[in-house]
Amino acid sequence: MEQTIIVLGGGPAGLSAAIAARSRDKRVLVIGNPIESSALAKAERVDNYPGLPGLTGMELLEKMQTHAKNMGAEFITGRVIAAMSWGDSYALTVGSEVYQCGALVLTPGVVQTAKYPGEEKLLGRGVSYCATCDGMLYRGRDVVVVGRTEDAPAEANFLQSIGCKVTYIATKKPESLNESIGYLPLGKLEVTGEDRVDGIVLNGEKYPCDGVFILRKAVAPADLLMGLELENGAIRVDRSMTTNLPGVFAAGDCTGRPYQVAKAVGEGLTAGECAVEYLDSKNQ
Ligand SMILES: Cc1cc2nc3c(=O)[nH]c(=O)nc-3n(C[C@H](O)[C@H](O)[C@H](O)COP(=O)(O)OP(=O)(O)OC[C@H]3O[C@@H](n4cnc5c(N)ncnc54)[C@H](O)[C@@H]3O)c2cc1C
Repeated sequence: MEQTIIVLGGGPAGLSAAIAARSRDKRVLVIGNPIESSALAKAERVDNYPGLPGLTGMELLEKMQTHAKNMGAEFITGRVIAAMSWGDSYALTVGSEVYQCGALVLTPGVVQTAKYPGEEKLLGRGVSYCATCDGMLYRGRDVVVVGRTEDAPAEANFLQSIGCKVTYIATKKPESLNESIGYLPLGKLEVTGEDRVDGIVLNGEKYPCDGVFILRKAVAPADLLMGLELENGAIRVDRSMTTNLPGVFAAGDCTGRPYQVAKAVGEGLTAGECAVEYLDSKNQ
């Protein structure tokens, strides 16, 4: 069966990659947050994109998205919370759904995430960003959910449904949170533990727990996909936009400066074409 190319992110780089791959008749799935989340959507006026001066960022984005749709790219609106290699393919988790592909093009833009103390050190050892992926590991155990996304209450309810003892932490108690889940207001937070998470300290008070699910709007690429190499904070790529992982390409702001649409689009084109070549070489 022909394998799909998944493009993570629906900004200029992702849309360009999708158009390039569709031009070679590959099945392309673009998975991205709503279009308004692209950096370009914030530009009042773009005057340096060749051939189309004077458009707002949103107008330019909508033109690119319509183009990709007309070329036959498929779209899913959602946040990818985890990606992992799966044999010679990759699996991406979006909410409770998992999507599989033969080649992956990362175009998440610049992802800014300030981390809590202890979070980085204990990632994968009690700290998780994905309830669907890791929830079963914590059945019957105490977990904390730090809810900073709209779907975080549903994730907390899910964790409770599979037998986790959940405490929910957020700036405001959400109405959709199960009544029986304990709630604490978010404040100064630290994740504690030596080799594994043993609790959190919230506003100076210690709460023991075995797992901490931190659910944010953005997940940094290296946290999304284990083993992905960075260089000066950007995804390391070569001239064919290939990362250090086989079948994984990257383009746009996530590969470093200059943060410009024309650069994102050019890199997206290369990444899309090279993802096609990669799939074709696997099928030979
Ligand atoms: C105010 C402003 C004005 C600008 N003006 C100009 C200008 O005039 N000219 C110019 O050339 N450039 C301009 N830029 C820069 C330009 O917008 C960026 O260089 C360009 O948008 C980069 O494209 P990209 O596809 O790499 O990233 P983005 O456009 O940021 O798109 C990335 C997309 O991926 C999504 N995403 C990230 N992580 C995930 C995930 N885990 N799951 C699902 N989706 C995810 C994001 O939400 C976003 O929608 C401006 C930027 C800003 C902020």
